[in-house]
Amino acid sequence: MKKHNFSAGPSILPREVIEETAKAILDFNGSGLSVLEVSHRGKDFQAVMDEAVALFKEILNIPEGYSVLFLGGGASMQFCMVPYNFLEKKAAYLNTGVWAKKAMKEAKGFGEVVEVASSADANYTFIPKDFTIPADADYFHVTTNNTIYGTELKGDLDSPVPMVADMSSDIFSRPVDVSKYICIYGGAQKNLAPSGVTFVIVKDDAVGKVSRYIPSMLNYKTHIDGGSMFNTPPVLPIYSAMQTLRWIKAQGGVKEMDRRATEKADMLYAEIDRNKMFVGTAAKEDRSRMNICFVMAPEYKDLEADFLKFATDKGMSGIKGHRSVGGFRASCYNAMPKESVQALIDCMQEFEKLH
Ligand code: PLP
Repeated sequence: MKKHNFSAGPSILPREVIEETAKAILDFNGSGLSVLEVSHRGKDFQAVMDEAVALFKEILNIPEGYSVLFLGGGASMQFCMVPYNFLEKKAAYLNTGVWAKKAMKEAKGFGEVVEVASSADANYTFIPKDFTIPADADYFHVTTNNTIYGTELKGDLDSPVPMVADMSSDIFSRPVDVSKYICIYGGAQKNLAPSGVTFVIVKDDAVGKVSRYIPSMLNYKTHIDGGSMFNTPPVLPIYSAMQTLRWIKAQGGVKEMDRRATEKADMLYAEIDRNKMFVGTAAKEDRSRMNICFVMAPEYKDLEADFLKFATDKGMSGIKGHRSVGGFRASCYNAMPKESVQALIDCMQEFEKLH
């Protein structure tokens, strides 16, 4: 049976990326060695790193003066690297979910943290719009897509101070004005690569300004200077990331990813709104196109487990909602074909007919 992978992450990758990665595991560039067993300092892997960085910059239209890094440690490591490197006195954070809260918690170890607004009281079902960013903050931190709650900032905000963004779950789903940010980071395991690599876009001249000592591995300067090779980088995930970047470019870049994301999300939200058995959980204007969260309507609450089984039996994988929201979460990342979204819609309609 065909499987439709709606997992929130690690998640679906383009089929071509999996196939090219599988080939390179068996024979990397005709070398007779596996990509799993080559030196990261060899010229063949250096070419992979260089192409991945170049494509990253090209596809996101990253201005001069920024570096792209591939590191370990996940987005969670960035929650501490960001304040370590950029917080001298004060930083502002928008609290839109658990990940934003975790980022804020780490920053508190380095200086004053101003929570400009929070939707915690509403279980993060919306993104606050009405807030003031202190003009004397070192940076303003946002989470552009809230993977757990299914809310998304659809564009780049305006801020009186440079921004930092966690784009773990929406990178490459829309064009970004990188010049508004000193740092954009994320775990790559949703729209870019298998788990094990973290991407960081960092503005070179924003680094090296804080007065504290920064341990080498946590200092962006180390990794900028070392071309992400200060220590052994995650070779295989970087190889797959390069393949995904080739795929995104061939499909038409972030403009096309943006168009597809809207098309797929519109299809699924239209069904959620039409079908009497389901209700969306996020405020309509903040609905995420990457993570689509919905629950059973109150009168059908008892049928939640039944629908999960019904959909799972028809090949839907990974649609169980996060425990803090409940119900269902259909993640529709870049690699998710429209046909899979249609298959889920068909399931919802068939289930409705049965009840
Ligand atoms: N930030 C966001 C928005 C996420 O969705 C996640 C993981 O799902 C994280 C951070 C944590 O990423 P990692 O597991 O790579 O540390």
